[in-house]
Amino acid sequence: MRFDTLHVQPPSPKQADFDALSVPVHRASTIVFPNAEAFASRHERLYDGYSYGLYGTPTSRALEVQIAALEGATRALVTPSGLSAIALTCLAVAKAGGRILMPHSMYGPARAFAARVLGPLGIETVGYDPRAKAVPDLPLDERAALIWVESPGSVTFEVQDLDAVVNAARQVGATVAVDNTWATPILFNPLAHGADISMQSLSKYASGHSDLLMGSLAVRDEAMFRRLKDTARLLGLGVSSDDCFLCARGLRTLPVRLRQAERSAMEVIQAIRNHPAVVRVLHPSLPDHPGHDVWKRDFSGSNGLFSLVLSPAAGAVLDKAFDSLRYFKIGASWGATTSLIAPSNPRSERPDLAWLPDGQVVRVSVGLEDVLDLIDDLTGFLCAVIGDMPPAGGSAGSNILNQDKSRG
Ligand SMILES: *Cc1c(COP(=O)(O)O)cnc(C)c1O
Repeated sequence: MRFDTLHVQPPSPKQADFDALSVPVHRASTIVFPNAEAFASRHERLYDGYSYGLYGTPTSRALEVQIAALEGATRALVTPSGLSAIALTCLAVAKAGGRILMPHSMYGPARAFAARVLGPLGIETVGYDPRAKAVPDLPLDERAALIWVESPGSVTFEVQDLDAVVNAARQVGATVAVDNTWATPILFNPLAHGADISMQSLSKYASGHSDLLMGSLAVRDEAMFRRLKDTARLLGLGVSSDDCFLCARGLRTLPVRLRQAERSAMEVIQAIRNHPAVVRVLHPSLPDHPGHDVWKRDFSGSNGLFSLVLSPAAGAVLDKAFDSLRYFKIGASWGATTSLIAPSNPRSERPDLAWLPDGQVVRVSVGLEDVLDLIDDLTGFLCAVIGDMPPAGGSAGSNILNQDKSRG
């Protein structure tokens, strides 16, 4: 071997007897084959083996196998983002002339994709009220190819009755896909309730650290899996093994992060719900919330995400109130270690919100900081919203210098 070749084809050390607890990061575009015959038959390995980096590596497959197990599925597929998982599902399932049903509460960019990309392709999307119990509330006929459920919905968190939707869908032979990002398989299992596809944005709680984008689709039907996988392949959708590694790492702590976020959110909600700046708290665990009874029946818990409807008097000073926040960072997304807050304007694009009281909607994602710091911060924000001074010394008396050291 000559010197330049030694740069390109180094000797490899022995790999035996190295048994780490994490899945190795396999970075690859090209995958090489032991002989010409193996190369010629590489397409047979599309679904289970390896033929090209775009179609899967041992790192992405390990994540897919774990997600399938968590979802009670036989197969799962990871995609470059949650939105791409939604778009892929629509393109794989619906044809020109067919219809997709989406709840008005569905993730906004998914509805924009339907209107701006699917519409011109001849796939019509019809919105429905997420509080609909089933037919005849659902605009269902034989044109319906795909029914989306997102429960609880984005920003306003209406809980949908998936069992009722599945029953209605069976009558017209439509596929049911659920955006299960809010619940993760820990709190709700869509496939066990009869859904055909369970989708997640892994960018939220699953990965959990605001450092990657990924989506997943889980199914029990092999033909549906192959349809989704073929469509993903032909659209050129692949994921990076580094991101899969980080996501798999995130999943290991998901149960404890989710439980802690839920507990902290409950404490924050209790501390602020009677504040004069708060007109209403939107969270499925509250008895007056749309679909609360279904949430109690179907879900095993909640998480750290909720919205506030602020006093209509807030408008003029709202920007200043946001700028006064110390721990809650202003930003999109949710479900991470860092607490986030963002104003939202769901009424501007939804026809079904007559039930929502007037006032600015603000979405809050409670992270893993000390809950007393978060209560102080949000209380200060709410006081600023109505032009009050925050309580002296912090609402929860949580100045770190005075604090019991055992709290850490
Ligand atoms: C964020 C989000 C998505 C999109 O996920 P990305 O990974 O950011 O593309 C889809 N559905 C819901 C409910 C979301 O909150």
